Amino acid sequence: MKTYKQINPSPRTLMTPGPVEADPRVLRAMSAHILGQFDPEFTELMNETMEMERYVFQTKNKQTYLVDTTSRGGLETVLTGAICPGDKVLIPAFGRFGYLLAEILERCGAKITLLEREWGTVFDPQEIEDALKKDSYKAVACIHGETSTSMMQPLEEIGEICERYGALLIVDAVATLGGAEVKVDDWKLSACISGTQKCISAPSGSALITYNEKIEEIVKARKRVEKGIRTADDVAGNLAAIPSNYLDLGQLEDYWSPRRLNHHTEATSMQYAVHEALRCIVEETLEARFARHKLNDKALTAGLRAMGLTIFGDLEHKMPVVTAINIPEGADGKAIRGMLLNEFGIEIATSFGPLDGKILRIGNMGYSSQKRNILILLGALEAVMKRNGVKVSTGEAVNAAMDVYADAEK
Ligand SMILES: *Cc1c(COP(=O)(O)O)cnc(C)c1O
Repeated sequence: MKTYKQINPSPRTLMTPGPVEADPRVLRAMSAHILGQFDPEFTELMNETMEMERYVFQTKNKQTYLVDTTSRGGLETVLTGAICPGDKVLIPAFGRFGYLLAEILERCGAKITLLEREWGTVFDPQEIEDALKKDSYKAVACIHGETSTSMMQPLEEIGEICERYGALLIVDAVATLGGAEVKVDDWKLSACISGTQKCISAPSGSALITYNEKIEEIVKARKRVEKGIRTADDVAGNLAAIPSNYLDLGQLEDYWSPRRLNHHTEATSMQYAVHEALRCIVEETLEARFARHKLNDKALTAGLRAMGLTIFGDLEHKMPVVTAINIPEGADGKAIRGMLLNEFGIEIATSFGPLDGKILRIGNMGYSSQKRNILILLGALEAVMKRNGVKVSTGEAVNAAMDVYADAEK
């Protein structure tokens, strides 16, 4: 029999828009021993996770819990549960992930209307209102931080508009939650979905979701309890059943509620991971965390500019947790990324579709969002650009970033 080496991953500085470095506290929590899923110690952890999640989402929603899947699965869970076949959904798409919402919704049998915008821009709320005036929609589904383009869609006014037109607003905050302001209640979001491997800084494998009472009612009307565990009180609702058993909001609610009705087996170690990651956020406070990401973003962009690079997109709406640089004329983005990884152990990202080969994306998320990482990346990127024949101003980038940090300490 062939022998296999024990895993021994190389140390990496992860400056991509996910996955990013997990907080070491999270990794330690994951090595704790396994508890049974109905052990009161474990269900207490689940309850605490819900409480801390409400803090991070800035919501009072009762239905705020985890789904054992990545963020994409979280999106699919909420969309499949809230949207019935035949429902009309408006999707303002301004990058790759907007189109992902459309793909998921089409498979739910929804009737999709896409509003499209050039990648690197965001929507004016008036465009959403104009579309809602023309036709009536059950929901608007939208991305908050469009990781593929580094753009962040302001949502405050859109929430107001959706409420006025009686449409739900379902938001993907996968890339922003825990790194930039996401105010579920104040912004009137009907549902919000996130993941763990971005600004939450845990490994991927869990989705954080929250939704309001309007969606809870829809779920109630679609509820079907499995025959083998059904009681006389579990009568079927009057709307079409949710077409997924695993990603069934109704059964997930029962599992996360005091009823603890058996569904899947909660992913024990991921539960530990998210619990610890959320504890880190509560300790740091959202306010300090957002300020940390903003400062590191300011230093990063100052450094990139001082090097002579240009930043992609509408800068007024750039995410503080992702920065995209235009690949300089004649330079090979793949070679630049490869050299950064192979020579320096630093990973940054390319993009997708129309932006593939045009921009490089730098993440500044969660535990990876550190002064040390920003300075090391700028120094390394400068050297790599130079070795790839790009004319950059040398010796300027790190210095410009250090000026930003020094100013902040004054
Ligand atoms: C990363 C990302 C996703 C997909 O997340 P997975 O955890 O890989 O499933 C969805 N939406 C946005 C905006 C993202 O940045």
